[in-house]
Amino acid sequence: MTQKPKTVGPGSLFVIAAPSGAGKTTLTRLALAQNPRLALSISTTTRAPRPGEENGVHYHFVSVETFRQMQAAGDFLESAEVHGNFYGTSRQGIETLLAADRDVILEIDWQGAQQVRKVYPESVGVFILPPSFDVLETRLQGRGQDSAEVIARRVANAREELQHLNEFPYVIINENLDEALAELLAVFAAARVRLVNQSQRCAALVASYLTC
Ligand code: 5GP
Repeated sequence: MTQKPKTVGPGSLFVIAAPSGAGKTTLTRLALAQNPRLALSISTTTRAPRPGEENGVHYHFVSVETFRQMQAAGDFLESAEVHGNFYGTSRQGIETLLAADRDVILEIDWQGAQQVRKVYPESVGVFILPPSFDVLETRLQGRGQDSAEVIARRVANAREELQHLNEFPYVIINENLDEALAELLAVFAAARVRLVNQSQRCAALVASYLTC
């Protein structure tokens, strides 16, 4: 049974989900570039690297056997099979970043999001929605890195992912990239000013006011 770690600091945990092709990765990269407090969790996957993808940068690429061993050892905060491959989030990596007061982004699917919510109920879920299914399909085809079979499977999986929209408190419709980015940064900023994330600072301030 997964226990919430005691070492967690005041950083916020953001879970960003979307159907493939919604623009999740682009939005996340732009947000990371604007806010040095944000950190991206690098997942472990059994998927083969795409052209240009680097081990340890885009993913930790491992064999199915290694993935299973890591799973058995309890290395993953969450793990799931997506599009026929396995993906998992490092438990240790997240704990270290949160303890260092970083706000951590997990780019994961709805199955992983459900698992994370159980361990970190205060995590903030954001769903990125493409403006239409036609746009989604065009974006998936336009990527030009995957076979027709892979694209067809992703389109089918996108329909499944969309059915979990209601499990996320924040939804961003990515029609205009600048607007969607502004909305995402607003969600991050709002989370940061929650009392739960500022309790120590607020307690110190209130104490100082009372002793004036
Ligand atoms: P891709 O293979 O296109 O990089 O990712 C496919 C999907 O896998 C992503 O849209 C994302 O939802 C999901 N994914 C990536 N990393 C993780 C992870 O660590 N855990 C889970 N549950 N899903 C992931």
